[in-house]
Amino acid sequence: MNDSLVDANGPERIAGLTRRVLRGGEITRAEAAWLFNLESSADIFDLMAGANRLRDHFKGNKIHLCSIVNAKAGACSENCAFCSQSSFHQTDSPRYGFVDPDPVQQAAEEAGRNRVAAVGLVAAWRGLKEGPMLDEVCDRIRDLAQSGKTRPDASLGIIESQAVADRLKEAGLECYGHNLESSREFFPRHCTAHTYEQRLNTIRFLKKAGLKICSGGILGMGETRQDRCELAFALKEVGANVVPINILNPIPGTPFENNPPLAPLEVLKTIACFRFILPRQEIMIAGGRTVNLRDAQSLVFAAGASALMVGNYLTTLNQPVERDLQMLKDLGLDPNWDKHDFRDQEQIPAHW
Ligand code: SF4
Repeated sequence: MNDSLVDANGPERIAGLTRRVLRGGEITRAEAAWLFNLESSADIFDLMAGANRLRDHFKGNKIHLCSIVNAKAGACSENCAFCSQSSFHQTDSPRYGFVDPDPVQQAAEEAGRNRVAAVGLVAAWRGLKEGPMLDEVCDRIRDLAQSGKTRPDASLGIIESQAVADRLKEAGLECYGHNLESSREFFPRHCTAHTYEQRLNTIRFLKKAGLKICSGGILGMGETRQDRCELAFALKEVGANVVPINILNPIPGTPFENNPPLAPLEVLKTIACFRFILPRQEIMIAGGRTVNLRDAQSLVFAAGASALMVGNYLTTLNQPVERDLQMLKDLGLDPNWDKHDFRDQEQIPAHW
C-alpha cells in the first residue's frame, strides 16, 4: 500500500458507487476491478466507509454467527493444496470416521448458549452418494433440526444427483456450504482432483432442492486481484446466500505452506469489494482471520462483513467465542440474528 498512489478522484468515485448500490443499483466488473486495485490506505479506508454504510443499510447491526463440527476428519481423497486434510499431504491433522450423535448435540447446545445461528456438519471426503452413509448423515441432520437450538447446515462435498440433495433437504437441512474457492481460471492451481464445473453442478442440485447456499473462497493462495473479482461475480451469479471469506493459514506439509501472507489492508479491501458486489449477502469472515488479521480483525465489520465463523475451525484454533462476543459488543453490533432464517435475502436476484 502506498500513499503516493492516492487516486485524486477516488473519494468522489467511491461515494458515487456507494450511493448507487445503496439505491439498489449494481457496480460493473470494470468498476469492481478499479476498487480491487486501489492502492493507497486513504482510498481503502474511503472504500471501507462505503462498504460499512452498505452493510448497515442492507444488514443492520445484526451479525450472523456460525460454527462448524468436523464431522469426519482427514484422509480425504481430494488434493486441495490449501487443505491439511487431504491424503496427498503429510500433516498433523486428525483423522477419524463420521461422528456419533453426541458431539453433534453438544455442538448444538453450545451454539444455543452463544447465540450462534447455525452449526454446520463438515466432512473431509470427496462427496456424498446414495447409500448407508447418506442415511447416517441424514440422521445427524434430523437430530440437529429437531433439537431446535440452531439451524442445521452442512458441507459434505460434491453432490452428483438431485436425489441426494433432495434427501438432505427432507432431513431438515437448510443451508449447504460449498465454496467455489477461487476463480474458474485459478481453480486448477489448487485442485485437480475435481473441477470447478463439478462444484457449480453441486450448487445447481442444491438450489433445485430448495437449499440455501453458503459459498465463498480463500484469499492468499497466489490468486490475483482479478481472480478475487471474478470469484465475487461468480458468487453473485449463483445467488450465494452466505459468502464465507477465508484467508489462507499456510499449514506445514501442504503445497501452500510457504505462501507469503496477505497484508491485512489487502484483506480488508477485498472484503469491502465483496460488499459492493454482494450488498445483500451475509459476508462471513471464516478461517484464518486471527492469524492473518491479528489486531485488525475487528475492522472486518467496518469493511462490510456481516457474519463471523466462531469457535474452532476444522483443523486450526480460533479465539474463544466469548472474546468474539465481546468484540461485537464493543463495536455496537448485535449477535442475535433473527430466527435463524433467510427472510432478508428474498431479494437476492436469481441469475440461475
Ligand atoms: S478441502 Fe475438502 S475436498 Fe479438498 S482436500 Fe480438504 S477436505 Fe478434501
